[in-house]
Amino acid sequence: MMNEQFRQALSVIETLKRHGHEAYFVGGAVRDYILQRPIGDIDIATSAHPQEVMAIFPKTVPVGIAHGTVMVIEHGISYEVTTFRKEGRYEDYRRPKDVTFVRSLYEDLQRRDFTMNAIAMNEHGEMIDPFGGIEALKRRIIETVGDAAERFNEDALRMMRALRFVSQLGFSLSPNTKQAIMQYGHLLQHIAVERIAVEFEKLLLGPFMSKAIELFIETNLFLYLPELATKKGELAQLGASSLVPAHRIEAWARLASVAHFQNQQLKKWKLPNHLIRDVSICLKALEHIRFLEDWTIDALYKYGPYIPHIERTRAALYSDEPHVSLLMKQWEALPIRDRKELAINGHDLLALFERKSGPWLAEMIEDMERAVLHRQVENEKEKLKEWAVCNQRRENNC
Ligand code: ATP
Ligand code: MG
Repeated sequence: MMNEQFRQALSVIETLKRHGHEAYFVGGAVRDYILQRPIGDIDIATSAHPQEVMAIFPKTVPVGIAHGTVMVIEHGISYEVTTFRKEGRYEDYRRPKDVTFVRSLYEDLQRRDFTMNAIAMNEHGEMIDPFGGIEALKRRIIETVGDAAERFNEDALRMMRALRFVSQLGFSLSPNTKQAIMQYGHLLQHIAVERIAVEFEKLLLGPFMSKAIELFIETNLFLYLPELATKKGELAQLGASSLVPAHRIEAWARLASVAHFQNQQLKKWKLPNHLIRDVSICLKALEHIRFLEDWTIDALYKYGPYIPHIERTRAALYSDEPHVSLLMKQWEALPIRDRKELAINGHDLLALFERKSGPWLAEMIEDMERAVLHRQVENEKEKLKEWAVCNQRRENNC
C-alpha cells in the first residue's frame, strides 16, 4: 500500500501531525496515484499556517507565503506544503489575490477545480473524497466541484485546465462542464496569455491531444486562443497525427506549422524568446525537409542537435514514421559536426599565407568547411594546409 514516493513524503505529514496539525496529500499526485499513473510533485495540505510550517522544518523556502505555500525540503526532495485555504472574492474572472486560511480540509477541497483533483489521502492511505472524485475517475469524467458556470466565472483558466486534462487523461467532460464552457468561453479573454500558454502547451503534449482539440472546436473555446480564432480548419488538422510530441519545441513547431505561425504570432503567445528561436529553426528546416530523402548532408550538418525535433515534427505533419536514430547516426558519422572541429583555424591560415585578416579568411574557412564535410579533403592539418594553398592559387588564376 502507498508507493515509494508517498512513503518518503510521509515524514512531512507525520512531523506536522506531531506538532498538533492536520496534514494530507492532495491534488494531482493523489489523482495520478489512484489512476496508477506516474506521479509528479507531491502536494501537501495542512491546517498549519505558513509561519508554523517554517518553524517546524529545518529546510524551507517561502515560495508563496501570501497563498499559504511553503516549500519543505526533506531527504533532498521538495514538497509544496499549503495551508488549508478558501479563496477570497474573485475579481475579473481571475484567481483571487487574497486568500483566507481556514482550519478545515473540507473547505480547502471545495475550492479546487475538478472533483478528481479534490481528493485527499491521509497517512494511512485512506481517501477523503467529499465530492465523488474517485467515482469520476472510475467513469473517466472531468466535472467541476460545484456548479460549473459559477466555477468558470470565478476563474476562467479552469476551462483551459479541463481541456488539458482531457488531452493528458483521455477523459470526457461531464455534460454540465461542457455546457458551461460553451456558455462562458469568452471569459478566457480576461486571463493572462502566459497562463493560457502553460495549459495549452500541456495539452499539445498530451497523448489525447486530438480529442482535446475536437472539444476546443466543438465548444468554440478556440475562438479565445491567441491567433487561432480564424484557424478552425488548421486546428482540426493538428489532431490528425497520433504521434505524441517528445518535447515542447515539437509541440509548438507542429502548431506553428499547421497554423502558419511566424515569429510574430508566437510572440503573441508570449512564449520565452529561446523557445521562439528554437521553433523558428524547426519551421525554417521544414520549409525544405518534407521527405526523409530531403535530409541531405548539408541539412544534417546545419541542423545537428535539432534533427530529432525537426524529424519528429516532419513525421507528424506528413503522417510518416520518424527516423531519428538513423539520422542521428548519419549526423555522427559526418567528418565534422561543427566548424570548430576543423583541424586548422584562423591563426594557422594567417601564419600560412602571411596575410592580414580580412573577409578572405572567413571565406576560406567556409570553403574548407564545405570541402571537409563533403569529403573532398581529409580533416588533417597538413592536408588542409595543402588544400588551402592549392585552392588559393586556383582562385588567383595561377
Ligand atoms: P499536474 O499533475 O499537471 O501538476 P495538478 O492537478 O497537480 O496536475 P496543478 O496545477 O499542479 O495541477 O495544481 C495542483 C492542484 O491545485 C490541482 O490538483 C487542483 O486541486 C488545484 N488547482 C490548481 N489550479 C486550480 C484552479 N485554477 N482552480 C482551482 N483549483 C486549482
Ligand atoms: Mg501538480
